[in-house]
Amino acid sequence: MERLRPSRSKGYSLLRGIGIPLLAGSLVVAGGWVLGQQRGEERLPQGEGASWVAAALTPETIQSVFLAPEELRQGNLILTEGTVPVASPDSLTQVEMPENGTYQLGGEELYLDEDCLRAFQGMMEGYVAATGNNQLLLSDGYRSISAQSRLAEIGGEGCRQDPPGTSEHHTGLALDLAQMTVDGPVPFTGEGVQGWIAENGPAYGFITRYPAGKEEITGHPAQADHLRYVGIPHGQVMEEMGLCLEEYWSAMEGYTVDHPYRTATPDGFTWQIYYVPAQETGTQIQVPKNSWWEISGDNQAGFLITVRDTLTDQA
Ligand SMILES: [Zn+2]
Repeated sequence: MERLRPSRSKGYSLLRGIGIPLLAGSLVVAGGWVLGQQRGEERLPQGEGASWVAAALTPETIQSVFLAPEELRQGNLILTEGTVPVASPDSLTQVEMPENGTYQLGGEELYLDEDCLRAFQGMMEGYVAATGNNQLLLSDGYRSISAQSRLAEIGGEGCRQDPPGTSEHHTGLALDLAQMTVDGPVPFTGEGVQGWIAENGPAYGFITRYPAGKEEITGHPAQADHLRYVGIPHGQVMEEMGLCLEEYWSAMEGYTVDHPYRTATPDGFTWQIYYVPAQETGTQIQVPKNSWWEISGDNQAGFLITVRDTLTDQA
């Protein structure tokens, strides 16, 4: 049996950080960060009349991180045209049957990137709560080269036809769905209650990676059952803009650390997103000292930086 031996590290230590707030409570620093209470993963209240003010990155509140050229191949937003980045064994997690019974498993040896898996579990809880359908089947996740070869020999459809070595499933960030029935698994079509996934998946960080109408841009036929984890808030922004992942990168290239794209998510956080082109010998990237941030390469030419603002209630 083939062992999981991907070759690259996801490099969390460098590509993701969180600052320590300087003070508890709220403090507005003139011309600088608006510092708020450390909220961690806690959901913010959606109080009526509360107004959340986004911080600005300034020289006092910013730090530089250096990214080596190979780090272009890491992160939730990587594109897989050309060379396909391989998931790190450190980031791959074996998927177990969920104790709360919110989904079914299509095999005993299923692996996903751990962030992707966590988001998937959250999405399935939302799906079951909304639809009562706990028979969605996670039919495939990480796919090794030899698994891709076996599928290509069998002959399937959509991502299962990708030539070995080119599958997005290689990243651990892609998964396929099916529907379990009394007669066994049937294809996930995205119709009926399954439409919840395309509609609400983006809020959990999942996109329909190969949507109808974008075939020429993605290079793939439309495929309802193949989801890609891109993280929060990117799924939501792509959905709002009507963009596939390739278009999203193009759209974000115009946003800089001084003029970032700003958005808000229903949990009350606001976000800044900005692009930095990669330099041949390595790239200096500015990130905040006092806020959660994450960096993803595109596997080609640049980095997208995601900052979750530290917030304060100005009401
Ligand atoms: Zn797939």
